[in-house]
Amino acid sequence: MKNTIIYPGTFDPITYGHIDIIHRAANIFEKVIIGIIESPLKTNFWFSIGERREMVELAIKDFKNVRVQTFNGLLVDFAKSLGVNLVVRGLRAITDFEYEFQMALTNKKLEDEIETIFMMTNEKYSYLSSSVVKEISKFGGDISQFVPEFVADRVFKKLQK
Ligand code: ADP
Repeated sequence: MKNTIIYPGTFDPITYGHIDIIHRAANIFEKVIIGIIESPLKTNFWFSIGERREMVELAIKDFKNVRVQTFNGLLVDFAKSLGVNLVVRGLRAITDFEYEFQMALTNKKLEDEIETIFMMTNEKYSYLSSSVVKEISKFGGDISQFVPEFVADRVFKKLQK
């Protein structure tokens, strides 16, 4: 499927930075599949896969050509199972570049058909990450400018537990 692209990530939780990439990808490609990685080596998730999926689904409810799927294991295998060979990732800073460069080349080694496309962050969100949202909320800061309200509510509920 040439006009379909996968946007993979952990989305723990989804932020306006992710939503911006989704919005821009959805304007270019016929279909965007958000692939939420269930359990990579990173294990200190705040939100379960079900919670992360629910928030992503709420965030994309107005996008007609975007859907969500969760996956385990290698991105290249997930992409193959869908018959898709395009992947989009966001780049915020030079620090992202090194990791993304390594991932893109590794995926290409594993599966030559896979192409990774990068989108520059929107300058409004260049500092924004799920970790920043979690850090700020832990210290009682206002996260309403970083995530939709339904995400902020869930972050605060998590903190109360
Ligand atoms: P991962 O844990 O796989 O990096 P994330 O959910 O943190 O997954 O991010 C998914 C993708 O979204 C990554 O390519 C990341 O660089 C990108 N991304 C995250 N925040 C932003 C942002 N503020 N602007 C642009 N891209 C972003």
